[in-house]
Amino acid sequence: MSELPIRPYERLPAAVAPWDPACPDVARALARLISGVLPGVTAHHVGSSSVPGLAGKNIVDLAIEADPDAIPLIVEAMLSLGFGRQTGIAPFPPTRPLLLGAVGHEGTPYRIHLHVMPPARDELRELLGFRDALRADAALREAYAAAKRSIVAAVGKGDENRLYTVHKGDVVEEALLRLGIRRPPADRPAPLPPGSTIGILGGGQLGRMLGSAARAMGYRIIALDPDPLCPTAAVADEIIVGRYDDVAAARRLGAAADVVTYELEHVGLVAAAAAGEGAPLRPGLVALAATQDRLAERRFIRSIGEWTAPWREVRGVAEAETAARELGLPMRLKSPIGGYDGRSQVRVAAAEGVAAGVAALGGLDGRPLLAEAEIDFEAELSVVCARDRDGRTLAFPISRNVHDAGVLAETVAPAPIDPLVAADARSIASWVARGLDAVGVITVELFALRGGGLMVNELAPRVHNSGHWTIEGAATSQFEQHLRAILGLPLGSAEPHGSAAMVNLLGTGPDRPAVLDGLDAALADPRVKVHVYGKRRVFDRRKMGHVTVAGVDDDSALERARQARAALSWKD
Ligand code: ADP
Ligand code: MG
Repeated sequence: MSELPIRPYERLPAAVAPWDPACPDVARALARLISGVLPGVTAHHVGSSSVPGLAGKNIVDLAIEADPDAIPLIVEAMLSLGFGRQTGIAPFPPTRPLLLGAVGHEGTPYRIHLHVMPPARDELRELLGFRDALRADAALREAYAAAKRSIVAAVGKGDENRLYTVHKGDVVEEALLRLGIRRPPADRPAPLPPGSTIGILGGGQLGRMLGSAARAMGYRIIALDPDPLCPTAAVADEIIVGRYDDVAAARRLGAAADVVTYELEHVGLVAAAAAGEGAPLRPGLVALAATQDRLAERRFIRSIGEWTAPWREVRGVAEAETAARELGLPMRLKSPIGGYDGRSQVRVAAAEGVAAGVAALGGLDGRPLLAEAEIDFEAELSVVCARDRDGRTLAFPISRNVHDAGVLAETVAPAPIDPLVAADARSIASWVARGLDAVGVITVELFALRGGGLMVNELAPRVHNSGHWTIEGAATSQFEQHLRAILGLPLGSAEPHGSAAMVNLLGTGPDRPAVLDGLDAALADPRVKVHVYGKRRVFDRRKMGHVTVAGVDDDSALERARQARAALSWKD
């Protein structure tokens, strides 16, 4: 090692090259250099370049474990050696920094990633465990290299490093669990047995379908909803009547339950926390906080390195007009809180419409709004993904969705898309689930861009309308999967039975008692399933039920579901 000290890091496109046997020499020399400056500090060689024979980027990854108090000092020392701080849209946080540098070794430049990590998350032990497993197991090595090659082959146009990290993270997580390197905590409680009570914040149709699945498995249901005759009431052992932000009612729910979940993200955070005092809250408070406010959601997505449409936080008309100039038109203005089914958002097509849009969303008083560029997408996709309490993730096949004025109209699954795009979508979903530290089912809505690539539209910390096809169309429904995860049970297979389509049954006409007509005609096709949510009143565009055709081996499902849907109507 002649050409120390450390030089600036150069970002390069991800490319998989054969293992370079000089990497351990570079790592050793750097470890000596570092312990010379910081006596007692050990820099371990980790990552692919530490595994003889493993193809990769030949970046030399070094890991230092240090107490949180010592991390700033180590960073300062490394900066003075010539390392640089990580930049970019999603850098590691200062509590777990990544420093970047490069050295020359026998005329060749080597890039260095220096990870400094606190002991709390046990990261170093996992990195060393994975390294040693790769060193010991040729088959694991080959599988890992193959996964990397396919990632690099699949991605393009400047996104390589993000996708490389995301997909590789998936492979690593899976291996850590499978090889027993990541161990469940010793104090992990036993799964909740049948007879236990599941508390649900919210009593809509999602709660009703969760409740049916829970009943089938022998669990009790208690739900909180303002309406004692809400859709969930028919399957619940008890309804606690209260608003979604009623802290006292939520506390009673938590006290009566063994585990608490939510079926909508618009529950008060304080109420959710109060419910969580009595029983574990799942997917979790972080997942709720990061998804119920669109601005927080955009920040979260950025923090984990994923992409959304370009956006701005705006207060008042002047800032919204600036955003319109910067983002271009058409643009979407959205209220941060309370939006669903296309409500609380406006499309602004012309500069003259900005002020009216801000006014329509109640933003004239300077309340923050989200301004977002409108994306001319090729298709909308969504991924329903479960994460169990050990951190294992499992996504359902991708749904392809069509919306009508912001309300989901139709879903087809598995989406007829390139398998590599589907793999990318699934990886993004498990990345999001991990980032949210979710236990349970979450959903990621995506835009598939013209010319390739995916962009995150919206997150839901829950089961989702676009996953209803799984009731008949997959080995495990999204509802059962969510229950398994929150109860501490193993996840079920997410394999589809064939092709499926789901068409929403929306209300039409004025507000009146809901009486459905045409069920016999709809069921004339014996593959048709009709779900009715038991809402007592119908009005225009209200979600009243859905129609599914699943398990077919041709592409007729959507047409058949549409036909059945057309036979149904609401009596005047
Ligand atoms: P909601 O909470 O109502 O589902 P979304 O932000 O998902 O809100 O918007 C609903 C639908 O509106 C999306 O599924 C999509 O069809 C359309 N939409 C929303 N934002 C954009 C955008 N930036 N560009 C293009 N279409 C959008
Ligand atoms: Mg949406």
